[in-house]
Amino acid sequence: MSEVLVLVDHVDGAVRKPTYELLTIAARLGEPSAVFIGPSAQGAEVAEKVKKYGAQKVYVVDDTEIKGYLVAPKAEALQQLAEKTSPAAILIPSSVEGKEIGARLAIKIGSGLITDAVDVEDGGVTTQSVFAGNYTVKSKVTQGTPIITVKPNSAAPQEAEGAGTVEEFAATISDVAKTAKIVASQPRKSSGRPELNEAAIVVAGGRGTGGDFAPVEGLADALGGAVGASRAAVDSGWIAHTFQIGQTGKTVSPQLYIAAGISGAIQHRAGMQTSKTIIAVNKDEEAPIFELVDFGVVGDLKSVLPTATEKVTER
Ligand code: FAD
Repeated sequence: MSEVLVLVDHVDGAVRKPTYELLTIAARLGEPSAVFIGPSAQGAEVAEKVKKYGAQKVYVVDDTEIKGYLVAPKAEALQQLAEKTSPAAILIPSSVEGKEIGARLAIKIGSGLITDAVDVEDGGVTTQSVFAGNYTVKSKVTQGTPIITVKPNSAAPQEAEGAGTVEEFAATISDVAKTAKIVASQPRKSSGRPELNEAAIVVAGGRGTGGDFAPVEGLADALGGAVGASRAAVDSGWIAHTFQIGQTGKTVSPQLYIAAGISGAIQHRAGMQTSKTIIAVNKDEEAPIFELVDFGVVGDLKSVLPTATEKVTER
């Protein structure tokens, strides 16, 4: 069976959940192999984690020559690894960085690229939501090694015993790949909540909050979810743009999306309509958001959300 390379998503060696999702998807296409670009010293620890999700091999690409630069060196390292291993496919997390790596890699190895897949079936057929969420399309790479970037929460990570054999891979990074240097980076202050793009549960508030996000945050915390927002809430200055969901914000695909005081404009739907279960709380029963929900509550979020929070906390 051919290998399927999965680029490990990590922060300083701490493996992030999308990696396990990608390994689960990789098993549908071939034999999952993880690619860890980071300090060699962390390779064994990463291997212990990813082998529990089926990684047979773990290629460790030491990042001494790579860190400190933007994405070009990573694409170059992946190119060299792809040339060595001739994988059946390459799966990359659908982050801003992941999509750029995918695009550069596709050009380098002459392959087709599919971005923002929300599902990948056996045989490499992917599902994507396009044109601001108006269409769901299925597509397949027809040239070269399929490179697919996959959105977080596209698969439930499934434990599977892999060998996790560590193999050091020495990539040669060209000078031209090192022309964009990181001059400063600052970790974002942690809210203690999951990352919006990765969260299994998102509670989002809109103009209907009237600027008071406490009920939204309360329910998000009770459910262990992330907080999101509509553009109207962001434009009103109630919450930072990093929380915005939609066409000009983030795209999320959680297991559960709760929209509170959000009307359901097409531009907002574009960022959340691939969520698995959608619940809306809106005091207007004619609000367009109710067209796409699994459950709808017609009511004032200021009373509905605190009641829901209380019930969740009691359990
Ligand atoms: P509104 O449309 O004003 O809806 C507020 C809702 O809250 C109403 O349905 C109301 O009934 C309900 N409500 C009021 N009070 C309560 C209460 N107490 N309890 C319960 N319900 C209540 N929007 C995005 O969200 N994301 C984007 O990325 C985005 N990008 C855009 C890009 C472009 C180019 C354009 C033109 C627009 C974009 N928009 C985006 C804006 C979008 O068109 C809508 O204007 C926006 O989504 C509306 O936000 P809202 O639903 O919070 O506000």
